[in-house]
Amino acid sequence: MDDCIARRASRQVRVGEVAVGGAAPVVVQSMTNTDTADAEATARQVAELARAGSEIVRITVNSPEAAAQVAPIRERLARTGVRVPLVGDFHFNGHKLLAQYPDCAAALDKYRINPGNVGRGAKRDEQFATMIEIACRHDKPVRIGVNWGSLDQELLARMMDENARSASPLDARGVMRRALVQSALESAHKAQELGLPGDRIVLSCKVSGVQDLIRVYRDLAARCDYPLHLGLTEAGMGSKGIVASTAAMAVLLQDGIGDTIRVSLTPEPGGDRAREVIVAQEMLQTMGLRSFAPMVVACPGCGRTTSTTFQELAASIQNWLREQMPQWRESYPGVETLSVAVMGCVVNGPGESRHADIGISLPGSGETPVAPVYVDGERSVTLKGARIAEEFQDIVARYVRDRFGRGGDARGDVAA
Ligand code: SF4
Repeated sequence: MDDCIARRASRQVRVGEVAVGGAAPVVVQSMTNTDTADAEATARQVAELARAGSEIVRITVNSPEAAAQVAPIRERLARTGVRVPLVGDFHFNGHKLLAQYPDCAAALDKYRINPGNVGRGAKRDEQFATMIEIACRHDKPVRIGVNWGSLDQELLARMMDENARSASPLDARGVMRRALVQSALESAHKAQELGLPGDRIVLSCKVSGVQDLIRVYRDLAARCDYPLHLGLTEAGMGSKGIVASTAAMAVLLQDGIGDTIRVSLTPEPGGDRAREVIVAQEMLQTMGLRSFAPMVVACPGCGRTTSTTFQELAASIQNWLREQMPQWRESYPGVETLSVAVMGCVVNGPGESRHADIGISLPGSGETPVAPVYVDGERSVTLKGARIAEEFQDIVARYVRDRFGRGGDARGDVAA
């Protein structure tokens, strides 16, 4: 982590084998969108998310059928060597499901409880207590996950009344922001009174507006030392979801706020659920907080790159690097810090390529592709012809093996 970004001091919570909070790096998590009652499909998607780099995966537990399949999902994952911690997402009937399906309670690594969806009136406290007692019995951490869309209405009504009597009342939105934080803190304190240790509690207060999220989390961070799960809820689809999530979370992460993040992207129909994991990783990596996979620096292209050669080369290198990561992660520790440049022409190409560990610079349009390769700042070989992409991949693969293979740091020893 970059020394200039001081993390907020928080307790540390263990979720399975993953540490959240304290001095641990910011953890990337995601959530499945399969029917949990379909154990095969859910285990497959959990494995895909874990393979993409999700360090914690949440699954919906909304029915007896779903609860009954949680332990079998865990077993299926174990058989294929997937050990990613599983979080159960409970609303409305979590107290019943956890009590009636002890295998589910035992198989999960954390329970997510939404205080706004636990129950009404006297039942609310009783049902909340049941879930906390089960968490204590199984020694599981809990995320108290408050959401703008399901805020505890009794608490909100009480705070609206108090606000109306105040000498300097807030507007309704301001009261709602305060109520979100209050709901999380009151529930956390209640959980501790019921016996759940403070180092088994993670908090979140999710909203869908960028400015609201920043204000709510700054308030929350100032008022507690629980680890914070950060995310913009209902972020939306495509570039809007990515931009809104990044705009909100980057401001908070830069302030040291946020111990685990989820990017709540709506997938395109038939789209890849793992995209939310990649976006979360790229957010942390471009901020210099963590490294997950080699990053490709590529120029945007301009009138000098009117052919598609440059775009195809940049895309193929980026995709190829990601495809290598599951195996490279095991064989080449540190490879995630590799920087690769793919540049469109001689204006900035040689300079940017020299700044990267390994870079390639095309000549621009209208010229036969002749692409010098730079390794550790020095010009190495010049590639020509139709197989430039494949030959560049071979050079990168050799560089990775020589530099990150056990015992190796042969920078520059890759001349073809
Ligand atoms: S490096 Fe060349 S091709 Fe890329 S944006 Fe700059 S001038 Fe255009």
